[in-house]
Order: sequence, then structure tokens, then C-alpha cells
Amino acid sequence: MQKISFVVPVYNEAENISLLYSKIIDLMVKVKGEWELIFINDGSNDNTLAILKKYSSKDKRIKYLNLSRNFGHQAALTAGLDHVADDVMAVISLDCDLQDPPEVIEKMINKWQEGYDIIYARRKNRHDLFIKKYTAILYYKVLDKFSEVNIPRNVGDFRLIDKKVLEHLKGMREKARYLRGMVAWLGFKYTFVDFDRPKRIHGNTGYTVQKMSKLAMDGLLNFSFLPLKIGLLLGILSITLGVFITLYMCVDVFFYNIYYPLYKWLVVFLFMFMGFQFMLIWILGEYIARIYDESKQRPLYVIEGKVNFADDI
Ligand code: UDP
Ligand code: MG
Repeated sequence: MQKISFVVPVYNEAENISLLYSKIIDLMVKVKGEWELIFINDGSNDNTLAILKKYSSKDKRIKYLNLSRNFGHQAALTAGLDHVADDVMAVISLDCDLQDPPEVIEKMINKWQEGYDIIYARRKNRHDLFIKKYTAILYYKVLDKFSEVNIPRNVGDFRLIDKKVLEHLKGMREKARYLRGMVAWLGFKYTFVDFDRPKRIHGNTGYTVQKMSKLAMDGLLNFSFLPLKIGLLLGILSITLGVFITLYMCVDVFFYNIYYPLYKWLVVFLFMFMGFQFMLIWILGEYIARIYDESKQRPLYVIEGKVNFADDI
């Protein structure tokens, strides 16, 4: 089998590294493949780094990058993906806490050999806290409804991507990174492997509420124009309401002879005017969205295959 790279960001995972290492060794003995395991130490403040040093000196297939501080999971993962060896044909990104069980990897590899380019591990149920579970469900619903690309639900950053997907992903250098969305944006042939997400074995989650909200915002803002549409909606709403109230007042004045003092008319006109302002904000927002989109400098298209050219893929 062709060479596979495992990319694992670690933040205070001292207790989990040896477990993950032995699981991966067992797995790769079973599937008989060449591999490398890249750890990215994301500014841990326990002895994660010392453990990585120990393992990497014993086993040359273990590599690690040491980031100068905590840059966050998505950045760490990106660093890892950028450093995958050239002869690697597929990359599997996973967490170090064994919440992404290596058993699932075997199924992913099988799917890859069947010819899929992206294999997402999809969580069937979560053993997370009540609040995390339900916010996640709600969040994915909103994202699904409003994002421009079809971002699969209930998948994290546990996935296998083929080398050709990796090459394109490496070309996407936007700063606010929501990797699962970026991978989905690229297209290619994808499928899912379902699994039960277990609880964390050792240590605590490195994802504080703050980090999670940032990731959630990155996802929503990068992949949907929902926030922008609010201006448009509010605008339409307040203009229509204004028009109806004006009509109502006109009926009162012309048919029932009711007198409205000037300030009442003004209030209604101001209301409608506010609607126009909302619309203006929306238009400004559309321009900002375009500037933002340009600044991401994503490729315009991604070619999966070429036929009868000098350099066919
Ligand atoms: N992680 C990281 N940097 C961070 C937070 C987390 O590299 O700032 C790593 C962490 O070591 C783990 C993975 O990202 O391998 C997922 O984090 P965690 O398990 O804490 O998230 P959860 O599973 O609770 O969403
Ligand atoms: Mg975890």
C-alpha cells in the first residue's frame, strides 16, 4: 500500500501520545502500509514536547513540529499538512485524545482504496456535554442552510484526504481557517465513515468556549452570507411595514376624516427611511464580502482531471 501520513495537532496531550502511537503502530501492522506520523506541538505547557522528542528519536517515522506558542488547532493542523512528505499519497488528520478512534482509520483507508478522494469520519452520537451537543446540532443546521458550499454535518477534522486534494488545500492560504469547510469547497469525490465518538480518555479539552466560538464564527462568516442578508431582510421588513402603516393612515384620513398630526407622519416616514438605510448597509456589506472573498485568493476553480493535454492528470 502507498504511504500514508498521520497529522496530529497536540496541545497538552502528554498522557495520550504513547497511546495514540501504539494504536497507530498496531493499525499499520494490520493494514501493512508505509507511514509517517507528524505531531504539531501547539505551544503545550506540559511535557508533551519532551515526550515527542523521546518518541521521534526512537522512531524516525515520528516527526514533530514545535510551534512557538499556541496558535490554535486549525493553524496547527495547517502547519502539519504543509509538512507532509512528498512521497505520501494520503493524509489522515486526527486528534490526539483518541476521541477519533484509530479503528475507524482502517475503514477510511479501505474507502480510499476504493477510489474516494475525501473520507470524512462522521460522528453518529456525541458523548459531549449536553450544551455542547445541542449547540453543535443547531450550528450545523444553520451552516447547512446558509452556506454556499455543502459542508457535511457532524464531521470534525478527522478525515482522510488524497494527495491531490492536499495539493489544492495547501494553495488556500486564507487566515481565518475553517478546514472542514475548505476541504468541502474543493469538491472531489467524498464519502463518510460513521463512528461513535467516545469520551476523552486523558486530560482536558483544549477547546475553550472562546476558541470554539471563534471556529464557529469562522465557519459561518467564511462560508455563508447569512450575516449580510440580515440588512436586506430588516430593510424589506421595515419598508413594507412603513408602507402598510402609511396606507392605513391614508384610509383613515380620506375615508374617516381622522386627523394625524405631522409628527405621526414623520415617524412613519422615518421608519421607512430606516429601511432604506438597512438596505444601504446590506449593499455595503455585499461589497465588503466581495473584497473579503478576493482577499482570500482562493483558486477560481479546481481541476480534477485533464484529457489529451500535454500534461494529463
Ligand atoms: N488542540 C490544539 N490546539 C489547541 C486546542 C486543541 O492543537 O489550541 C488539539 C488537541 O491537542 C487535540 C485536538 O486539537 O489533539 C482537538 O482538541 P480537543 O480534543 O481539545 O477538542 P474537542 O475534542 O474537545 O473538540
Ligand atoms: Mg477531543
